[in-house]
Amino acid sequence: MSLSGKCLCGKISYTCEGEPVFAGNCHCTACKKSSGSGSAPTIFFAAEHISIVGEATYFESMGASGQIVSRGFCPTCGSQLFGKPAVMPGMIAIRAGTLDDPSMYKPQVNIFTSCAESWEVMDDNLPQFLEMPPPQK
Ligand SMILES: [Zn+2]
Ligand SMILES: [Zn+2]
Repeated sequence: MSLSGKCLCGKISYTCEGEPVFAGNCHCTACKKSSGSGSAPTIFFAAEHISIVGEATYFESMGASGQIVSRGFCPTCGSQLFGKPAVMPGMIAIRAGTLDDPSMYKPQVNIFTSCAESWEVMDDNLPQFLEMPPPQK
């Protein structure tokens, strides 16, 4: 699998090779604030499978996990592209809306649904987790 994407202005772009580790919509408060939407569509890759062109600016905040989450955005156009949760070392999350072909995003779960808004429509066929899903082996 090969995915590519970029920010709104195009100064930051990325390509991902290999299979994603995890893909899902996060409804936590920090994802709502930082993305400005009802949830954040997120694809996790091992960091070594992502190559990034351009310099994202990172903002750190405390995640619901109690550990820092660092979110990367384009300093020119403000698009949020990346997430690096300290709780998942070695992983980089891509915001699926920045993909060149966002239809490639296949969410597997909805997470932090304890924070979900009533106006955010979820696919009932996907598993829902009130917070983080249990660790996968
Ligand atoms: Zn940009
Ligand atoms: Zn979140």
